[in-house]
Amino acid sequence: MIIVLLGPPGAGKGTQAQRIMSSRGIVQLSTGDMLRAAVANQTEVGRKAKEFMDAGKLVTDEIVIGIIADRIEEEDCKNGFLLDGFPRTVAQAEALDDLLENKNLKVDAVIEMKVDDEALVDRITGRYTCAECNAGYHDTNLKPRVAGVCDSCGSTNFKRRADDNRETVVSRLETYHAQTAPLLPYYSGKGVLKTIDGMADIDDVTTQINEVLDAL
Ligand code: AMP
Repeated sequence: MIIVLLGPPGAGKGTQAQRIMSSRGIVQLSTGDMLRAAVANQTEVGRKAKEFMDAGKLVTDEIVIGIIADRIEEEDCKNGFLLDGFPRTVAQAEALDDLLENKNLKVDAVIEMKVDDEALVDRITGRYTCAECNAGYHDTNLKPRVAGVCDSCGSTNFKRRADDNRETVVSRLETYHAQTAPLLPYYSGKGVLKTIDGMADIDDVTTQINEVLDAL
């Protein structure tokens, strides 16, 4: 099963991808996570990507397509994967189709998580994750049960993304509307687009996604 989670920054793609990964055993491929790891490890890709990421702009198609092309060859992708944050341009979507076609595969469903822009700035600027297990939290909407302690693994170590600040968020939203939203007609034309209400609460969004996946 090859699934694309599509939606603006802050729509909850990462959170839902983690849930699907643990409930269905399909691997989550997040180009954002891969690029952040490359930046942290100061690899050549990381050095090239950093200035785009800091500005809330897209890293070049060439870089991200290269990353995904390599990643989907790995053993854990054999039974399918869930793409989170890729593709983000029509050129990336076309490249993905070509990569999959070479393996006699195709995208089974693209799940659009629809969220109002006004809600996104608050969601993004308030979010943080456990530095050990990556569980997601929010300053007001989703606090750990015990303050300062991760519900999932008990760690007291948390982190925030460098690009989750007000200025960069505005640029990331503009980028989404200009460069990523054209993927909606692209996938709708292929008959694989499913739109769900990303404004609903987290468990309800998971239910909506599971309904889409169960119907495949
Ligand atoms: P994300 O974690 O998906 O919000 O991505 C964080 C940042 O990484 C984005 O703002 C982009 O700068 C970069 N990035 C992630 N995925 C892509 C992609 N598919 N194409 C281009 N840039 C990307």
